Amino acid sequence: MPIKVLPPEVASKIAAGEVIERPSSVAKELIENSLDAGARDINVEVHNGGVSYLRVTDNGCGLSSVDVEMAIRRHATSKLAKLDDLEHISTLGFRGEALPSIASVAEVEILTRDQGSNAATYLHLEEGKITSREKKSRPVGTTITVRHLFRNFPARLKFLKSSATEASHIATLVSQYALAFPEVKFEFIVDGRTNLRTPGDGDIRSPVSAVYGLDIAKKMQDVEGTDEMLYAAGLASPPSVQRSTKSYLSFFVNRRYVRNSILAKAVETAYEGLLMTGRHPIVILNVKLPPEEVDVNVHPTKLEVKFRNNQAVFKAVVKAIRQTLEKSPLPGVSVGPEDALGGQLWERFPSASGTLPSLRTVGQLSSSYVLAEGEEGLFLIDQHAAHERILFERILSQRAEKKPEIQGMLEPLTIELTPGQEQVMKYCDGLLNEFGFTIEAFGERTYLVRTVPFVLDGANLVEAIKELLDEIGSEQDAGKRDIKAAQSLACHSAIRAGQTLEPDEMRNLIKQLESTSQPRTCPHGRPTMIHLSSQQLKKEFGRTG
Ligand code: ADP
Ligand code: MG
Repeated sequence: MPIKVLPPEVASKIAAGEVIERPSSVAKELIENSLDAGARDINVEVHNGGVSYLRVTDNGCGLSSVDVEMAIRRHATSKLAKLDDLEHISTLGFRGEALPSIASVAEVEILTRDQGSNAATYLHLEEGKITSREKKSRPVGTTITVRHLFRNFPARLKFLKSSATEASHIATLVSQYALAFPEVKFEFIVDGRTNLRTPGDGDIRSPVSAVYGLDIAKKMQDVEGTDEMLYAAGLASPPSVQRSTKSYLSFFVNRRYVRNSILAKAVETAYEGLLMTGRHPIVILNVKLPPEEVDVNVHPTKLEVKFRNNQAVFKAVVKAIRQTLEKSPLPGVSVGPEDALGGQLWERFPSASGTLPSLRTVGQLSSSYVLAEGEEGLFLIDQHAAHERILFERILSQRAEKKPEIQGMLEPLTIELTPGQEQVMKYCDGLLNEFGFTIEAFGERTYLVRTVPFVLDGANLVEAIKELLDEIGSEQDAGKRDIKAAQSLACHSAIRAGQTLEPDEMRNLIKQLESTSQPRTCPHGRPTMIHLSSQQLKKEFGRTG
């Protein structure tokens, strides 16, 4: 085929594909524009996960009737004038691509008024072209409505997930911006119901309370640190607050919400030794650097940034968080089997196959491990991991038989969810039901729990349910959500390390473990036991010649 330059409509659709991947990308671009326009009040409203309808209203500076027509042209921006400016970007937007990109993949209405105009301009766009122009009234600010996203792009539409999943992505996004901009009032409305509302009073704890709840907001500790070129400030949870996913880490670089492995690694390093294996803190961190120290132009949706000096950023952040943590009370640190006993002496069973020989309990070690002997030598069993395996299989088989053992509440339990968790609740309530939960909507992000799976007896139910939703929410593959749910439930219900067991409890545990299909690994694939063979023992004591 001969080489041809693409017609502009085709080129613009290809470019749009990079910026606009799903409804939350539209929300991201519009919210960033509102923030760049100095808005103090931003309202985001969606229907059908933002696919059929997504509207962002702000009270920012607005646009004149002349500027608004410029704004919808490709590479038209008020934020960047020359190449050199690209080195010092202080606004969230700069490429002048968002509005034209959105307009090329959806129907768009813009209603905007700036300070100097006495009427607002209304534009209606289809396939990127203006189909009607009117004068309307509205206060200074901008409302952009995006309808029928990807209607003419069946391949893109097919790639989208359920409405509730798409709404949950937007909820997470709005939550992040709300955390980054405490001085801005945010409201997020999903299908007519308020999902998130922040007061915009400038106190960072206000959005934290709105997103994660008052209890967390109170427990969070202030973080502040500076070095030559960096200023880091925010909140970090004390080690007593632990989460099962990394989704509670929020990073903002010059107020831009970013994903960044250097910052994530710095947090992990700062908390080293303070959290249980596989647990994560809640951290909200704003990093301020001179704009030339950060490259924001490395990712189509600007979600990733590059630091000029990774090492300096890493060190400063670790130090700032460590200083905070040193002031907070230390919890007990539990040690996994990997840490307690390593080396060659003990044989591990990382692979899943193989049933157990019959074992006789000898005793308990460190209130965490059960010692047992069999014909093949000595077995050291991690009581938590073993119990997890037992419960995991039980939970899944009860679900498969559609007979979950349930436990009713005498009084319904009230739980308050984060905006993201609420959306997960919506798309997985059928699944939760199959596991034995009966949960109903009660008020704004408040739910009543009437029954729970029997295995959760004795567990902290509020924590267990919230973590269950986080775990399910972090699983992109809908087909694996049931496994995630069973893992999470098993983990919450299983006996802990540090719990003293009676001899018959230990015997019972081992008997039940023997009857599981994969006794040698926990549901996450970690070993439930390590084995010291009789032969090894002999060898170690020099009995073999
Ligand atoms: P960019 O944000 O990269 O400049 P956009 O396509 O997102 O590009 O927006 C183009 C221009 O439209 C912006 O530079 C800004 O001047 C104007 N604009 C967009 N949204 C708003 C808004 N909500 N309020 C005021 N001006 C806006
Ligand atoms: Mg923009």
